Amino acid sequence: MSVIQAPRGTFDVLPADAARRSALEAHAARILEAAGYGRIETPTFEATELFRRGVGEATDIVQKEMYTFDDGGGRSLTLRPEGTAPVCRAYVEHGMHKLPQPVKLWYLSSFFRAEAPQRGRYRQFWQIGAEVIGSATAESDAELILLLAELLESFGVREPRLLLSSLGTPETRAEYREELAAFLRTHRDSLAPEVVARIELNPLRAFDAKDPITQETMRSAPKLLDRLSPDDAEHFQHVRNLLDDAELRYELEPTLVRGLDYYARTVYEFTSEALGAAQSTVGGGGRYDGLIEQIGGRPTPASGWAAGVERILLASPEPPVAPRPVDLFVAIAAPGAERAGFHLVSEARRAGLSSQLELAGRSLKGQLKQADRLGARYVAIVGSDSEVGLKQMDTGEQTNHQYDAVIPTILRSSRLA
Ligand code: AMP
Repeated sequence: MSVIQAPRGTFDVLPADAARRSALEAHAARILEAAGYGRIETPTFEATELFRRGVGEATDIVQKEMYTFDDGGGRSLTLRPEGTAPVCRAYVEHGMHKLPQPVKLWYLSSFFRAEAPQRGRYRQFWQIGAEVIGSATAESDAELILLLAELLESFGVREPRLLLSSLGTPETRAEYREELAAFLRTHRDSLAPEVVARIELNPLRAFDAKDPITQETMRSAPKLLDRLSPDDAEHFQHVRNLLDDAELRYELEPTLVRGLDYYARTVYEFTSEALGAAQSTVGGGGRYDGLIEQIGGRPTPASGWAAGVERILLASPEPPVAPRPVDLFVAIAAPGAERAGFHLVSEARRAGLSSQLELAGRSLKGQLKQADRLGARYVAIVGSDSEVGLKQMDTGEQTNHQYDAVIPTILRSSRLA
């Protein structure tokens, strides 16, 4: 029969990979929870309408990357392609506006996008995300940026660069959009066909184009940062002052667009050269003051980011993983001793010792070899008589003990060690 493989663009997390992922999760929990963020987990799938409204019809995600299916009852569901819209849906659904504001939430979840798989780009991937809902302040933007910087730094992400910009408010953006669309129309001959096709739908995406001629044309295009209203400009200046005070270096990137429609005012991305040019973004985010209203809540300012777990792992050094120490390996030396051996290993675990039992029917010699491979400190050899042989693996010394004395002996030696 043919062998079935994991679907294209997905991967297995094997035990050897799991340790670094757990370490990253622990870093995120420590940093975010110390700053008052509570963990949230939302369902893996949501009503498709949530992403249509919350991410935006014109985005790549909604247009071509969603895994959408009918649930059999005529309802259209979608595997979540991102976390912000679901978190906002939960905020509205649970009446979190009644809590003291802002509400700070973080998540570590998997997301699904039907993209062309490559290094650092998968169809199921994990993100760590943080959201501050119910605050319009520049401080909440700056706090979020600093926390992401701290997370990347604490995990050793190589050469992180912070790109920062402001998209203004929707009104400013609408006016600017018209101005940019007019510019693109007059320069349509020097733009890639897919950019021309999007002039009316989403002219801002022209800045994202990879085509060199388009990039050249866009150099002389009007920039949103030069069109900010006085209020937006002041908000942005405030964010910049706070980052300067924190001595966090950033580069102004006036063409930063971000793939999602809901951003307004502050936007940013962290990149790392370690990922290579094509997939260099480690994480990004921004302010999305209009989103909660968009999905049926009352107008609520909010801000947040998401960072790719796989990208963080790819962009940081891989420390040698220390194998988990095994205190006790229980070897079975005679037929009929399995029951006593099983009981001994259970008791040892209850006493807090990391313990393993022979489960493969090896000979005694094979069992000792296996204990050695595992780096076990002790091997208890359980045979047919009432005494258990206890072998200390580093010295090779073996002593006999009553069954009940085995665990106290190991515990005593652990305390002395
Ligand atoms: P986005 O929600 O598109 O802003 O993505 C936030 C971060 O998630 C990106 O900066 C990447 O680190 C990561 N990311 C997004 N899409 C993928 C993907 N298809 N595979 C792996 N990581 C991704």
